[in-house]
Amino acid sequence: MSIPVSEAHAASYRAREVPAPAQVIEGVWAVPVPLSGSALRAVTVFLIETRAGLVLVDAGYDHPSCWASFRSSLNAIGHTVEAISTVLITHNHPDHVGFADRVRTVSGARVLMGAADDFAGMHRLRGGFLDQLGTALDLTGAPQDVVDSMYADAVKVAEHHESLRLDATLPAGGTELDFGDVTIRAVHTPGHTYGHTVYYDTRGIVFTGDTMMAEGPTQLAIVSRTGDDPAGDLLASLDRIRDLGATIACPAHQFPYRDVATRAEELKAFHRAEVDAVRGLTDGSATAWDVVRRMSWKKPWDELGRGTRRFNLVHTLALLRNTASTAGRIEDAR
Ligand SMILES: [Zn+2]
Ligand SMILES: [Zn+2]
Repeated sequence: MSIPVSEAHAASYRAREVPAPAQVIEGVWAVPVPLSGSALRAVTVFLIETRAGLVLVDAGYDHPSCWASFRSSLNAIGHTVEAISTVLITHNHPDHVGFADRVRTVSGARVLMGAADDFAGMHRLRGGFLDQLGTALDLTGAPQDVVDSMYADAVKVAEHHESLRLDATLPAGGTELDFGDVTIRAVHTPGHTYGHTVYYDTRGIVFTGDTMMAEGPTQLAIVSRTGDDPAGDLLASLDRIRDLGATIACPAHQFPYRDVATRAEELKAFHRAEVDAVRGLTDGSATAWDVVRRMSWKKPWDELGRGTRRFNLVHTLALLRNTASTAGRIEDAR
């Protein structure tokens, strides 16, 4: 279990409340923004005070209630949206890109995100999220009626905009951003999405987006192309985060915590074990649909909720990809 930076923040997360804005270290603020109607309850955006203006990490949902809550929280800690000069987005999910464009309209801030998560490029390469999900479901080998009903369920989930325009994209090799008295390194950490980026404030804080929360597994990116291996990407990304030497991790959900390297190792071990479990259930020719029904879940497969079954199936497809891509390496090691 991770060591919280603030017991109060962790306690209100555990009590299923939305924590109040709080200072992480001097000049760095955690600003939880409620997500109404979402199981996640809140996304935490972070505000960094620099000589080059305020830097915002992530931008909640595009919903009037999120925007209003964000503005009033900012005022409560003595800041205004007008003073934000840069918005750094960890990845292109709707609870992270939400009000970035509104901030830019108010303050003229630059909006930056990892190149592979730029919607324009993603649409050219992979299509929209629903297209990607449709491709993934086809790749699972599930019967057509199962694929069709899972896809239909996903379509019913509230649609979101995939249109945010960026002022610049961050290269896959990473880059250093200079804000005068604060330096932030953008580090490409695919796994949860293909362009996921964590931001390392060289004072020892890493903003980990959805890649490394305080507790629980990391959701893997949707497999939709030949060569996609989000589990392998994630394992390498966790090494990269561990090696930054950060003393505090600030995830976009749950709460900030201290034991960054230990947590990276713990999460790696969890996902490695998942891959090993899948490897043990396939002879090399099994489909994700074959494997997912052989795996042990909290309930028998047929009793799991429809959304859970869809999630588990797409997740298993990603794990299966990793068993295929590491098979050669395991042979070599023997
Ligand atoms: Zn996400
Ligand atoms: Zn998220």
